[in-house]
Amino acid sequence: MTLKDKKSGDDTLPARFGPGDQVAVLLPLPLGTAYDYRIPAEMMLSAGDFVSVPLGRRTADGVVWGIGDGDVAPAKLRDVIVKLDCPPLPAVSRRFVDWVAAYTVHHKGAVLKMAMSVRDALTPPKPISAYALNAAAPDVRETPGRKRVLAVLSNGPPRAASDLARAAGTGTGVVKGLYDAGALIKVDLPPVLPMPVPEWNRVGPALSVDQSTAADKLVANVRNGKFRATILDGVPGSGKTEVYFQAVAEVLKRGGQVLVLLPEIALSAQWLARFRDRFGVDPAVWHSDLTASQRRHTWRAVAEGSAKVVVGARSALFLPYPALGLIVIDEEHESAFKQEDGVIYNGRDMGIVRAHLGNIPVVLASATPSLETVVNGESGRYEVLHLPSRHGGATLPDIELVDMIKEPPPRGRWLSPALAKAIAETITKGEQVLLFLNRRGYAPLTLCRTCGHRFQCPRCTSWLVEHRLQCRLQCHHCGFNVPIPGECPECKTENSLVACGPGVERLAEEVELMLPGVRMTIAASDNIASPKAAAELVRRIEDHEVDVIIGTQIIAKGYHFPMLTLVGVVDGDLGLQGGDLRAAERTYQLLYQVAGRAGRAERQGRVIVQTFMKKHPVMAAILSGDRDEFLKAESKSRQQIAMPPFGRLVALIVSGPNEFTVDEAARNLGRTAPNMTGIQVLGPAPAPFALLRGRHRRRLLLKAPKETQVQPIIRQWLAHTDWHNSVRVQIDIDPMNFM
Ligand SMILES: [Zn+2]
Ligand SMILES: [Zn+2]
Repeated sequence: MTLKDKKSGDDTLPARFGPGDQVAVLLPLPLGTAYDYRIPAEMMLSAGDFVSVPLGRRTADGVVWGIGDGDVAPAKLRDVIVKLDCPPLPAVSRRFVDWVAAYTVHHKGAVLKMAMSVRDALTPPKPISAYALNAAAPDVRETPGRKRVLAVLSNGPPRAASDLARAAGTGTGVVKGLYDAGALIKVDLPPVLPMPVPEWNRVGPALSVDQSTAADKLVANVRNGKFRATILDGVPGSGKTEVYFQAVAEVLKRGGQVLVLLPEIALSAQWLARFRDRFGVDPAVWHSDLTASQRRHTWRAVAEGSAKVVVGARSALFLPYPALGLIVIDEEHESAFKQEDGVIYNGRDMGIVRAHLGNIPVVLASATPSLETVVNGESGRYEVLHLPSRHGGATLPDIELVDMIKEPPPRGRWLSPALAKAIAETITKGEQVLLFLNRRGYAPLTLCRTCGHRFQCPRCTSWLVEHRLQCRLQCHHCGFNVPIPGECPECKTENSLVACGPGVERLAEEVELMLPGVRMTIAASDNIASPKAAAELVRRIEDHEVDVIIGTQIIAKGYHFPMLTLVGVVDGDLGLQGGDLRAAERTYQLLYQVAGRAGRAERQGRVIVQTFMKKHPVMAAILSGDRDEFLKAESKSRQQIAMPPFGRLVALIVSGPNEFTVDEAARNLGRTAPNMTGIQVLGPAPAPFALLRGRHRRRLLLKAPKETQVQPIIRQWLAHTDWHNSVRVQIDIDPMNFM
């Protein structure tokens, strides 16, 4: 092993370092390597310990990554300041940081930053200072406020001054006065409530034969305690969650921790309810909507091992689990697992890596597994468990296609006569309708009927979307927005703007015209952005307070509404536009998921898909329900062009504020592109979003045979190319989007 290798978080390194030893400390900064520091007198450190160190004129927190390089002159070597009072970053987490950095071609420090996202959690929380009654209190002058404070305390536990004052309807000055007078004493309360412990031994619901067989296999994998990737493949409503909950229970029984990754954690209200039913408590939750104190509490509880089950978004992979025993990746095919900013990585793939490094099982659950996963199943790399039927007597919905060429809607409308009729029938029966249209706002494009002016975002290659409810034109990429103007900014004609095409708001208008007074709600990220708002929407639908739900993809997945029996897909072709490699696969997955919302209980569901492309393989597959046939065809066509999963791709996105320097950098990269057999570099070309958030963008795409190790090639390439320092080059290994 060379000295350089020793800087990786390797288990075989000496366990303890003492005074005078040099250790390598990795900092959560965009740095590729760890720095050497000396351990001062009376300090002992181990690999993984969190420490504060001097960095220039400030201090920084980092992690002891291993033995130092010894490449810093003794005179320049600085001492570690303090060892932080926090459980160490486990060896497997350190190996994971190294692995992700190497795979994604990002700096180790940038990856470590994701594992150290809560700086406050590195020190123990301080106890909360509270007030209690002094049993041996002297007599004090009593005022009405003082009486109320004493009454609150005589009937309840000690409280912090602010809580106490609020409960007594007085100011904190009154509490302070009572303390000064000797009527109250100060006590320390534990800073946070301990994490509730899931009750793994509660009896779960009765499972069908198929479910039990699958659950037994997952439980056996947990007992084996080795890496094993298993695909849990089942139609919507087949009970995948209950099946993997059996494996969760087994890990809990053994004292281990479990991570469940969900693609859209903000919308997981129904999942959380199921977890509570099964295990009696809430799991720890990890996503970007948490408050600072929730993040701190949860991070610390994970590190201390008291958070037993974490359900989270992809960033939950980087929490410091000391005893992770199982990873579940639910809806594994979802593109939301891909992080597109900062360190660009795929949470699904890195989840499998994390399981491999920790030598634990991983479950990939989906009704529409991705082609990557299917191919891994067919080759035998992953185990495949099928759940063939819907559980609890429900049958799959009837699916019909409406040919929009032969049966078009009336002019200026978007619902075909067939779909309109089905909506009316369903509501008459007292059942619910979901109209699916993956377009937020009122209309995707606004133009002037006099001069043809189109409203475009000044910072992006993108039309402004009309949001009529908010009276604004909005860019969905950068957030730029303006009030809807009364006149055309180009030709100054008044009232000459026309909305082109439908969004969910416009569809709501059409339904209102068709069925006046119908109870309707829109479900889009504009109005259900927070978990709370999502939970409230779910409640309203469950309690049948609405008849028609008009929603984007945000409502398309995972939900179960017993009275929802009709799903209308307003524009089935929407996802097929634009030349994305995975357009057909994604459209199929999305339509299949949406269709799965219909008739999930005892009532028969009905799905109507409006399309202009009735003959398209995606439509044929949706109609016939023959998923495997579709996947086979899709697989064959990708194989023919050696595209993923049968070949490898790496995207370079070159961006910057100045178009000229961006172009120059992109051309340079094109000139120095690797010239090797089997490797092909496409571009540079303007990205489909040639302008995004004010930055000009160009793309290069490297295509390589499947077995190629692309990272060294990329590193070499970039190391030998220069660009202006205002230009950023982002590396996207295994790109999912081509924007
Ligand atoms: Zn005009
Ligand atoms: Zn924009």
